[in-house]
Amino acid sequence: MDCIFCKIINGEFNTNFVLENEYAVVFKDINPKADTHLLVVPRKHVESLNDLEDEFLLGKLMMTVKEAAKKAGLSSYRTVINTGKEAGQEVFHLHIHILAGNIKL
Ligand code: AMP
Ligand code: ZN
Repeated sequence: MDCIFCKIINGEFNTNFVLENEYAVVFKDINPKADTHLLVVPRKHVESLNDLEDEFLLGKLMMTVKEAAKKAGLSSYRTVINTGKEAGQEVFHLHIHILAGNIKL
């Protein structure tokens, strides 16, 4: 499957993970829309929130958001999930944006 985030998860680009656990990896967005812009990405390929049926995984992803924000020293931040092309989803592997400081999104 030709998915950029699956390749990142598989280590094909030697991406530095801010945080990783059994369920997700967290790395910096390549085109940051805020002073801090992180992406929380499930290890499992799920195209979008519309394709997610595993509520346990959703819980793990949100807890990973919290942990990554804490690790990045953020107490105030915005989380965004774009679902579908018209909403601005560009990468069809579910991910949660974490944005803080001068948010341009
Ligand atoms: P979305 O528009 O919600 O699908 O978000 C996709 C995000 O992935 C965008 O903010 C991109 O800047 C980011 N992105 C795309 N390719 C990479 C990459 N190789 N490494 C890090 N971030 C990426
Ligand atoms: Zn994928």
